[in-house]
Amino acid sequence: MPEKAGIYLHIPFCRSKCSYCAFSSWPCRRPPAGYPAALLAQARQLAELPWSQEKKFATLFVGGGTPTIYPAPVLTDLLAGLGKLFRLDPEAEISLEANPDTLTPELLRQLRRGGFNRISIGVQSFHDQLLHRIGRRHDGAKARQAVAWARQAGFANLNLDLMYGLPGQSRRQWRADIATALELQPEHLAIYQLTPEAETPLGRALAAGHLVLPEPDLSAELEQEARQALLAAGYQHYEVANYCRPGRACRHNLNYWHNGSYLGLGAAAVSCLDGLRLVNVAAPGRYRRLLAAGRAPYAEAELLGRPAAFRETVIMGLRLRQGLRVDQLQQRFALTPQQYYGPILDELIAQGLLVADRERIALSERGFALANQVLCRLV
Ligand code: SF4
Repeated sequence: MPEKAGIYLHIPFCRSKCSYCAFSSWPCRRPPAGYPAALLAQARQLAELPWSQEKKFATLFVGGGTPTIYPAPVLTDLLAGLGKLFRLDPEAEISLEANPDTLTPELLRQLRRGGFNRISIGVQSFHDQLLHRIGRRHDGAKARQAVAWARQAGFANLNLDLMYGLPGQSRRQWRADIATALELQPEHLAIYQLTPEAETPLGRALAAGHLVLPEPDLSAELEQEARQALLAAGYQHYEVANYCRPGRACRHNLNYWHNGSYLGLGAAAVSCLDGLRLVNVAAPGRYRRLLAAGRAPYAEAELLGRPAAFRETVIMGLRLRQGLRVDQLQQRFALTPQQYYGPILDELIAQGLLVADRERIALSERGFALANQVLCRLV
């Protein structure tokens, strides 16, 4: 049986830059016409590796940026091109990130017909005032409409991204956002806290006192309220920030959390080939030029040693509710969490933040709520 892996494609262009955005994305009216050809050029380089030829690819994720800034035929041609280069599982999860302001019924129909079977819509909030404050281009009505159009186009696997901790966000607004999201019945919800970086326009507005974030206690309560509402509605809280209907976890992201292997195509994308990490150059123009010249587009290459790979696997795996199986760690790295972490592990267990026995290690209920702080101690 060939081993399974994933493919990630990065489209680093957006119509404008959201005020909190510190991601690798460039604002532009029209995305560069030559970029998709560069993606396929890198795909051809990677497809020649014996490593790729031994793999079956179970997931493909087109993220950004805003992939839907390109017309649907560009995206479906990319998908078809990758299908010729790599062995894609016939049951592969093929996801696409989209922002509501770029979606139309026809674009969604073409994407669905062209093979995309999962869509992740960046809603963030249904409140126009909050969306405007963080520089999003859509409003709440457009977000609801985008979901309805995606359903009509045949997307039966749909994620909504929501954010809490927005400047000036009230408890009432957050409750209404969760209620609206639940009415739309997504298969998956990603619930993130806004964490503004200092060098973004939002970070500067906060530093200057022009905007104010909710108090940390309120943010923690908002997260807790969302959790209770989603669990009551039958969602599973399967990862620190992610909820799903049974059987609808994001398979592509599960591969990351299991520290599996994946190919990363596009400016700033990262590949991980059994512990060999390749980071592509971040600037899209340079990425295109390198590939047009027949060169490899990497800015960094690093072979992770066994301890580093073990540590990453534990930290990523603990983000999952189910945690990690000790026998699988032992098989993969010839190491156990107790051998590697020793006293730190004992301390976290004594503090009630981790649960561990001979079979499994996982965050406790309390540890799950404080995941970021706990995981920092294992880095
Ligand atoms: S849509 Fe996403 S990637 Fe694009 S600017 Fe906004 S936050 Fe950044």
